[in-house]
Amino acid sequence: MNSNGEDPRNVKKKTRSSVHSNGVWHPVGMRLRRGVVAARPSFVTLGCCFPFPPQRLVWTMFSSSLGEASLERAASGAPPDPGSPPPPLQDHTAEIDALRETGALFYARGWSVGTSSNYSIVLRRDPLELLVTASGKDKGRLTRADFVCVGPDGQPTQSGQAKSSAETLLHVAAAEDENVGAVLHTHSVWATLLSEHYGGQGGWSLAGYEMLKGLAGISTHETSEHVEIFANTQNIPTLAEQFRQLRNDAPERLRHGYLIHKHGLYTWGRDLAEARRHIEIYEFLFECEARKLQYQR
Ligand SMILES: [Zn+2]
Repeated sequence: MNSNGEDPRNVKKKTRSSVHSNGVWHPVGMRLRRGVVAARPSFVTLGCCFPFPPQRLVWTMFSSSLGEASLERAASGAPPDPGSPPPPLQDHTAEIDALRETGALFYARGWSVGTSSNYSIVLRRDPLELLVTASGKDKGRLTRADFVCVGPDGQPTQSGQAKSSAETLLHVAAAEDENVGAVLHTHSVWATLLSEHYGGQGGWSLAGYEMLKGLAGISTHETSEHVEIFANTQNIPTLAEQFRQLRNDAPERLRHGYLIHKHGLYTWGRDLAEARRHIEIYEFLFECEARKLQYQR
């Protein structure tokens, strides 16, 4: 018995029980498995595990439903709520849905986790206009509100749109080639590891693989494909200029894509289907190359 005349074992049990009911002491995994987090997030539990503030986390978790709400509001013609996220674009729903499906696939494959990656489709030329993913969105759960239209300077072509991806100018630079209809960027484990391994020499070649035939214009395994590796930087305009310069000076080094050191892969295609295929081919070959290095040790 304690000073209150209670058995200490019962006090402990009671305390644990009340904390449990407030949703604080649960391990995150347990809550996720039970789906409790989505219904009533615990900031205390999750705040220590994720490197961004609870408000951002809540937005990410509920972005799907909010996107649909914005869609309904936009469809009704009602003015946007000043406190709500930007409404979805009224046009380009086919392209948007195709990129949403791409995001779900890449997320499931582990190539676009943690809100990383960005995707774009060329909407028109003269002047160039791209549909590109908005900044910081969960690629596994993209909504129709998670896209922006940008012009040749990478700036939104309409007011009130969501913020475009920080790497938008790399999409614009790749899409300046009139043969490019879509640009895809992923952050996979194998691409990240290989870009570190070969980063010091600026790139390496994929050679002799049957799967190289999945890259546009290649019809035999008896070939090699150079993979350029650019230094990583947060100065995207500078990186975009480096890309343009190399494409102009040595286009054979940028036939289908490139890596950024310890960062990820950029590739493109005549259309979204071809760009998606290029991602799949590169990722397959990167995994082959990285596993080969492992067992050659
Ligand atoms: Zn990136």
